[in-house]
Amino acid sequence: MVKNDPFENATKQVNDACDVLGIKDKGLREYLAMPNRLLRVKIPVKMDNGKIRVFTGFRSQHNNDRGPYKGGIRYFDPKGGVEYMEREVMALSSWMTWKCAIVDVPLGGGKGGIFVNPKTEKLSDGEMERLTRGFAYKIAEVIGPRKDIPAPDVYTTGREMTQIMDTFSKLNDNQYSPGVITGKPISMGGSLARNVATGLGTAYCVREAAKALKIKLKGAKVVLQGFGNASTFAGIYLEKMGAKIIGASDSKGSIIVPNGFKTEKLIAHKEKTGSVVNFPGSKTVSTEELLTTKCDILIPGALENQIDAKIAKNLKCKIIGEAANGPTLPEADPILYKNKILVIPDILANSGGVCISYLEWVQNNMGYYWTFDEVANKMEANITKGFRDAYEMSKKHKIDMRKAAMALAVQRVVEAFEQKGIWP
Ligand code: NAD
Repeated sequence: MVKNDPFENATKQVNDACDVLGIKDKGLREYLAMPNRLLRVKIPVKMDNGKIRVFTGFRSQHNNDRGPYKGGIRYFDPKGGVEYMEREVMALSSWMTWKCAIVDVPLGGGKGGIFVNPKTEKLSDGEMERLTRGFAYKIAEVIGPRKDIPAPDVYTTGREMTQIMDTFSKLNDNQYSPGVITGKPISMGGSLARNVATGLGTAYCVREAAKALKIKLKGAKVVLQGFGNASTFAGIYLEKMGAKIIGASDSKGSIIVPNGFKTEKLIAHKEKTGSVVNFPGSKTVSTEELLTTKCDILIPGALENQIDAKIAKNLKCKIIGEAANGPTLPEADPILYKNKILVIPDILANSGGVCISYLEWVQNNMGYYWTFDEVANKMEANITKGFRDAYEMSKKHKIDMRKAAMALAVQRVVEAFEQKGIWP
């Protein structure tokens, strides 16, 4: 048995959503929770020293009732070992099913990876390429532009995606198949707006939340926890919508500027000094002070498990946009709901990435490429609808947005499943 089994958590969330929707059928619950297929492969690689090393890889295909499986490939070595990783990819593939359904992109959920840490193990470029192509060869039968479309994840980049695409194309009669994978470099059929996608998506969600709560974004105060890809772009776009950023943090510390600052200026400061700390005009504060500063919008955009019950009780914001994955502990949710803080759950707030992945796949399939604005506008339509539908669900069932978003997603998958029925 795996300790702190992530797949058990994913299953519990499915069951909770079924409770909200009044789905009592045990068989249907099991169908919704379990992956359709779990592939575990061995990948022999000739290392630079001439010896053979065998790696273990996975692809979990959770649900494809709404469209081909979609989800990342990570190269990682979680503490619990290979068996834990198997349960983790199963859970992550389940979350991808729900994420795609919330923003109504016609894709299902998948996830995979190799048990390896390329950073600590310092694999050479050659070893990485042989490992990636070996993995692509082993999963080639189950992936494809109409079957399962992987993407980058922890410690994988556009380079690995290109190698997977090239291996797949060569194994398939040399047919150029960019739609087998997303997150590719622009020169290989990648999409514009991918780099800003997550933060921009968070900003769209926050804008909708502000509308729902009748809060004016003009002059609204924003605190960003973290100052990396997701949170800086959330900051830049919220600023464009009229909001004022008053705090930020990174691994070296947290700062507040009560009258606000321009995100671009803080980016320049961080580029020069390596941190947000000591930004001119700022005061340095603790993480807890940053999170509990009086503001309108809090964007946890760095790490998981940041908002516990104690922090939740002291928060003075009105909206939380979870750009990071899992920043709020389950114990905090009821407190935030009672205190009327609107939480935009990670599964919705950071879904900009998967929306752009979907649009990359569409562009690859038609062989025609959109401008940045065209891609951003299409993503805006999906995310805005996702927010509104989840918000309506939360009002209808009097539940928080996290539960509502899951219930919405499960409802959409059940609808598709019931249309098709079971065959053979
Ligand atoms: P990133 O590496 O670009 O940025 C992470 C930031 O967090 C850095 O500025 C780092 O200094 C800061 N940080 C680290 N430790 C910290 C601490 N103790 N306190 C405050 N800040 C700290 O990463 P990212 O891509 O922006 O991802 C951030 C989060 O968003 C993760 O949870 C990730 O899973 C989630 N996310 C990102 C994307 C994406 O497309 N980038 C998509 C979905 C979800």
